[in-house]
Parts: sequence; structure tokens; C-alpha cells
Amino acid sequence: MARKTKDPGIICSFCGKERKEVLVMVQGVDVAICDQCAEQANLIVHDEIGNQKSNSKSKKFKLSPTITPIRIKEFLDLYVIGQDDAKKILSIAVYNHYKRLSQNVVDDIEIEKSNVLFIGPTGTGKTLMAKSLAKMLDVPFAIVDATSFTEAGYVGEDVEGMLSRLLQSCNYNVEAAEIGIIYIDEIDKIARKSDNPSITRDVSGEGVQQGMLKMLEGAEVNVPPAGGRKHPEQSFIKVNTKDILFICGGAFDGLEKIIARRLNTNVIGYSQSKDKKVDKENTLANVNHQDVKKFGIIPELLGRLPVLAYLNELDRTALTEILTKPKNAILKQFAKLLALDNIELSFTTSAIESIADAALESKLGARGLRGICEAVLRDLMFNVKTENKAKQIIIDSDYVKTQLILYNFNKIAQ
Ligand code: ADP
Repeated sequence: MARKTKDPGIICSFCGKERKEVLVMVQGVDVAICDQCAEQANLIVHDEIGNQKSNSKSKKFKLSPTITPIRIKEFLDLYVIGQDDAKKILSIAVYNHYKRLSQNVVDDIEIEKSNVLFIGPTGTGKTLMAKSLAKMLDVPFAIVDATSFTEAGYVGEDVEGMLSRLLQSCNYNVEAAEIGIIYIDEIDKIARKSDNPSITRDVSGEGVQQGMLKMLEGAEVNVPPAGGRKHPEQSFIKVNTKDILFICGGAFDGLEKIIARRLNTNVIGYSQSKDKKVDKENTLANVNHQDVKKFGIIPELLGRLPVLAYLNELDRTALTEILTKPKNAILKQFAKLLALDNIELSFTTSAIESIADAALESKLGARGLRGICEAVLRDLMFNVKTENKAKQIIIDSDYVKTQLILYNFNKIAQ
């Protein structure tokens, strides 16, 4: 055990100084160390620990050998109904992205990032897909809204704010955040208004797109910890974005017209089968980067979003499946909630279809389902504790329709 010594005959085993020449001398078994040498030793220890930490930081992300694009898609299947094409495209992009992070070979060939752009109507599973992915990979995840950002220097949040959201999601563990996923919603809302580069400044649209460029590509970014410039006294956190996967999503209303126009011009001079139905869904399946550029996303940003995936509008079958099939399906959640009050809740097939029909009518996609279920079950949940004995309740289609009329449900569609 080391102890402070006052013995004048003791000398420092490191520098040879005598007790009287130093402030403190710590004595161990057969050795002693003066305060100056102890301080130096302390610095050396800290340096070494720091080096070890930064070495482990640069250690590559380990992609579990069991993860393959097929496994990723199988996992997404548990949560996301339909959207097979998008799931496949995402699975490949993500697999490649994390394979790139775990590669050990340093050579001239640098694999570029595979950031993703999702195109599809609201409530079709864009956010859910990104969220499920982060769950599978167990990496930090943040959802941000592109419309909340403005070009640096203007009133509003700087684009760096999205990194502080990511940092918050993992308790400011920079190392973890640097391999996380950021989902940027409503990217279509920051499109510039025309295909021509603007002469005047476009603070909320093109300016934000410009601001995102470096971040999406990979850069050392100084992030304000509290997500704003309101606290100048706070020190910045350095985050390297080169291994962060960015997934952008938007509804891109009107994009199918741009695609259709291109398709029509392309087929001039070729015999085109008249009965080939080109509906909205088919059209979206043909989307390419040129169309998105025409919509108003600047080419530089598009270049950093090499993977394009589209999501279909959900039909009645998909909506009924969403209600019942996923691991945490909405109806399963309500059944569990009521089971806590000794009520065994079930729905007839036609009741489930009626709920799906109401969602279709609302034009909110699957996003409308929860609100509809809340309205259908409102009275039941309100009266839940009136009887204490266990009971079984089966919801049928008539009950669904009555409740939806009662609660004037269709108003949410407006
Ligand atoms: P958006 O495409 O607008 O990002 P979200 O992913 O946020 O839509 O979907 C809203 C909600 O609707 C989700 O929380 C989920 O419950 C449900 N949902 C939407 N699409 C699907 C889908 N394809 N499969 C399962 N649930 C879905």
C-alpha cells in the first residue's frame, strides 16, 4: 500500500530527487515517487488510455456474419407490409453500407456511401422502414423534418441540428452516432420551385439542400449539443458523418406526371401497346434521378442519394394486413390493452375490412388506421371499468360503421 512519507532519507525512484526537494513523496514497498514524477506518470497513463480509445474508435464496424440482404428483408417483413421492391432495394443498400464500414482493406478503391431516397405517398411505411432497420442493426436513429431547417445564418434550425438529434438518441455517444441512421422526412418540401437554378436566394428550399450536401457525403461537422445557436457558451461536438446512413423520404406529389411525360417522349416512334395500363403505381416504378431533378432536387444532392426506392399506395388488402399481421399490429395492441381489464377483444373479418375502407377514404394511408380504431373503440374503452367480471367482445362491421358515423370520423380526411 502506498503512503505519503515524511522520511527525509527517502529519494524518488524515478528522478532521484530527495524528500526535501519536492512537495510530496509517496512511498511504496521499496520504492518512492515524488509529486512531479507522479504527475508525469499520470499524463502518460491518460495519453495511453486516450490512444487506446481512439484506436478502438477507428476499429471497423463489425457486421454480424449472419446479416445478409435476405435476412434484412425478412426482418423488415415482420414490421412492414407489402412494399417488396422498396424493402429489397433498402436491404441491399444497407447491407452494402455496413459492409463498407466493416471492410479492413485500405486501398485505392473507396466504396461510396449508399444513402437512400424513398418516394411514396404519406402513410405507406417510409419512416417505419427506416425505424425498423435501425432496430435490427441496433444503431442510433433519428427522424428529422427537412422543412424545419433553414440555410445557415437565417432564422430557424441549421442542418447540423439533425446530428444533435442523433446524438441525443444515443446519449451523446459520438462513436455510436457516427454509424447511426438519420431519416430526413419531407425532403420533397424543400425542392426548388423550378428546374432552373435560382438567381435570387431560396432560403428554405435550395439553400437547405446546399447545406445538406457536405453532411450527406461525409464531413467533420461541429454540432451544437442542444441543437441550436441559442447557447453560444456551449462547446461544439465534432461528428464525422462519413459512416452515417442518410435515408430521405417524401411524397413527391406530381412526380408521376413528370415521369409520364418522359415515358411518353421516350416511346415516340415505337409501337406501344394501347392496352398497357400505366397507372400511378406503374408510373412511379419507372422513376429515375432525372425525374427527381426535374421535381426540384438539386443534382448535387441527388448525386449523394444514389439509391432510389418507391413505395406504393396501400390498398385494402395491405391495410387489413397492417391491422392484424405485423409483430405490433394495431389490433393486437388494442387487444392487449383491453386484456389488462379482463376483456377479450376480437374483430370479425368484415369489421377489419370496414376499418381499412375508412382509412382508404381518409387518404392518410396506414397513418389513418390508429385514429379510426381509437374512434371505433372509444365507447368501449370509456366504459371499460363498469363491470368487473371478465368478458368477451366481438366487434363487427355494423358496430364499426355506427361508431365512425357517431364520431364523425370522415372529418379527418379533410
Ligand atoms: P410515411 O410513409 O408517411 O413515412 P409511416 O411509415 O410514418 O408513413 O407510417 C405511419 C404509420 O402507418 C406507421 O407507424 C405504421 O403503423 C403504419 N404503416 C404505414 N405503412 C405501413 C406498412 N407498409 N406496413 C405496416 N404498417 C405501416
